[in-house]
Amino acid sequence: MIRTTGLTKRYGRVTAVDGVDLRVPAGARFGLLGPNGSGKTTLVRMLLGLVHPTSGSVELLGHAMPRHAATVLPRVGALVENPAAWPHLSGRTNLRLLDAAGRGGRRRDRRARVEVALARVGLGGVDRRPVRAYSLGMRQRLGIAAALLRGPELLLLDEPTNGLDPRGIGEMRDLLVALNEGGTTVVLSSHLLTEVEALCTRVGVMDAGRLVLTEDLDALRVPTGRVLLRTPDPAAVVGLLDGQVVERSGNVLVVREDDPAALNTRLVSAGIDVTELAPQRRTLEQVVLGLTGSGSDRVDGRAR
Ligand code: ATP
Repeated sequence: MIRTTGLTKRYGRVTAVDGVDLRVPAGARFGLLGPNGSGKTTLVRMLLGLVHPTSGSVELLGHAMPRHAATVLPRVGALVENPAAWPHLSGRTNLRLLDAAGRGGRRRDRRARVEVALARVGLGGVDRRPVRAYSLGMRQRLGIAAALLRGPELLLLDEPTNGLDPRGIGEMRDLLVALNEGGTTVVLSSHLLTEVEALCTRVGVMDAGRLVLTEDLDALRVPTGRVLLRTPDPAAVVGLLDGQVVERSGNVLVVREDDPAALNTRLVSAGIDVTELAPQRRTLEQVVLGLTGSGSDRVDGRAR
């Protein structure tokens, strides 16, 4: 679906994207992560042919970009930075104009397409107020609706939850998962790790312009060899397991153990109640913070 080779963009002395070899398979929900200034936006812009690479190449849906933009872009929905819109017109009118410029077809079908797109992003009941009176969240939803108009095979979204409140973020997540399950490949950039963790199946991590990791989320979140345990009788557990308990906070213990099932059996056989037991996993935040740092756009010289 996406294949870049040695993709590089320099702005004067700044290398915004540095030799990126990115592969995104069809059907993925792919999250591009990285601190501010690590090059995510520049990369997404190059994928869409909005920024010309200094060197390297981009293939989208099997075609070289930007040479075949006219063939490829009608099959791609994109939201990059502030969604463009005519501010004095309503969201509905904006979408109708965009749709008329794109797919054509009978007027009734075009109108229906716009209503479907508005409904999908939670703007079905929107009134006639002009877009300039929209909240940031509404603009963001309108931008996604515009991206959906063409029924895209690939959705490329730069920070899609920018400006959305927690409920809006949840709705966006449900929408993107539903679209993905309907066959659309979803690629989004974000610096919100929890959002990517909840939404994506595969992640790429950018740091200082380089793609420092591409991995399935499941593989990243391997168990740490520790088990989180909640019990009404922590003292009994400490007594039984002795040196295996590495942390204790109230009724919650962290136990060094590779086999949670065996631990459970051992505790239950000793007559100890267990209310919760789960293998501890690395969070995406721990993975990413371990990989990045130098790429932040901080200018005070301190690592985060
Ligand atoms: P953010 O999360 O803050 O949007 P990002 O990961 O998307 O960051 P980019 O916006 O791609 O990062 O920027 C990468 C680097 O390239 C930054 O150092 C930025 O200042 C620089 N840069 C981006 N666009 C330009 C430009 N048009 N001219 C000069 N430098 C640029």
